[in-house]
Amino acid sequence: MLEHGRHLFERLWIGDSIPALVKWGRAVPRSITRRMQAEGFRSIVAYAARHQRFLAERLRQHRIDPRRVRCPEDLGPVFTTPEDLLRFPAEDFLCRPPQAVFETTGTSGSPKRVYFSYDELRQSARHEAAALYENGVRPGDRVACAFDGGYWISSWVTFRACEELGVFCSAVGKPRPNEFYPRLKHYGYNVLIADPTWLVSLTELGEREGFVPVKLIMAAGDRMTEVYRGYVQDAWKAPVVLGYGSTEAGGGVGMECRARQGYHVDEFNYLFEIAEPDAEGYGELVMTTLCRRTQPLIRYRMRDVTRFIEEPCACGVKLRRLAPIKGRRDEMVVMGAGNLHPEIFERILHDVPGVSDAWQVAVKQEGVHDILEFRLELTNGVGPDQVEEAVRSNLRTRYPDVWANHTCGMYRLAFRLLPPGTLERGRKPKRLVDERKA
Ligand SMILES: [Zn+2]
Repeated sequence: MLEHGRHLFERLWIGDSIPALVKWGRAVPRSITRRMQAEGFRSIVAYAARHQRFLAERLRQHRIDPRRVRCPEDLGPVFTTPEDLLRFPAEDFLCRPPQAVFETTGTSGSPKRVYFSYDELRQSARHEAAALYENGVRPGDRVACAFDGGYWISSWVTFRACEELGVFCSAVGKPRPNEFYPRLKHYGYNVLIADPTWLVSLTELGEREGFVPVKLIMAAGDRMTEVYRGYVQDAWKAPVVLGYGSTEAGGGVGMECRARQGYHVDEFNYLFEIAEPDAEGYGELVMTTLCRRTQPLIRYRMRDVTRFIEEPCACGVKLRRLAPIKGRRDEMVVMGAGNLHPEIFERILHDVPGVSDAWQVAVKQEGVHDILEFRLELTNGVGPDQVEEAVRSNLRTRYPDVWANHTCGMYRLAFRLLPPGTLERGRKPKRLVDERKA
């Protein structure tokens, strides 16, 4: 059986066409996938223990014999964190000379750097190609990819995914929507791939300039609320599917199917765990790269909070799904109101009239009391009283538990209503911040 697993691994790695890869995603039973993952995990841990200074050092500290490691739990407290990637030099993670490097988009401080070989990038591209194929992308289509370029990985991987599919693709970085719009018609793009905010701006432009026929829109790079998704979808009359990934994950590791009920993840190349799950199964996503040999990441803490969806998907793909990301673990704030995720405030604020989509909620401290401060930009001349009332009313009706903690005095609400353009924008603005003293 193990031999079978290894053979399949090799075919998935490079051997088969994308339609064949898609077939594997539908045909390989979960028991075989799990066995392949278990074998992949043992072999990457053994490899990294020999070639990666960082892991070898951790194993030594915790007196763990890599030959005895059969599954992630056997590594006990050994994880790799984003902070480790910043703290230690690249040489501590590199197992062989790299061929490419990408950087993460840090909200502050220096970027994290992740190294790859060309083969590893191709493998990421093949998974993305298979996911795009599942969503109906075929030769003859024309893809416009507007992910940011530079040191960010997504644009490159999407370009190569289109190459694998034999599909026309322009990956031109992130053009301004008004510069892109005439080209949309000129080149006849019918598949759009971009981050959610860019897609919303493009759609606003489309309202004025007129829409062209598009068959699929893929959004990734940041979370997209259902409200934004609905807006973009209705305007273009095309499905919006969401992707999930990061630089550390080598681009996209998960994408929705047409059922749009969670991300099918690339289980052939990654092993996922949920660390410290709560009663509903939500916890921090942890990823081990099973096939990368340049800079493998062993039990890397993704900082995103999600859970597995174990039920089989209506689309027939057998790869496991992740629920929509609830928020960043480092954005989760535990306070008088309960465990708060940015998602809560997206749901409270999205339909409040007269505020811009740049907003931030801060948890502050006054004496021994917590304050939940809404920082909002006023637009359209709606008065501060109306805005405050709308926020309170949404909080009361949509999150009665959070509201109940307010009425019994666990925390106080505050509002800072600002002129437009005051708050941070950018690729991943921090929506929920904890500003209490430690
Ligand atoms: Zn599905």
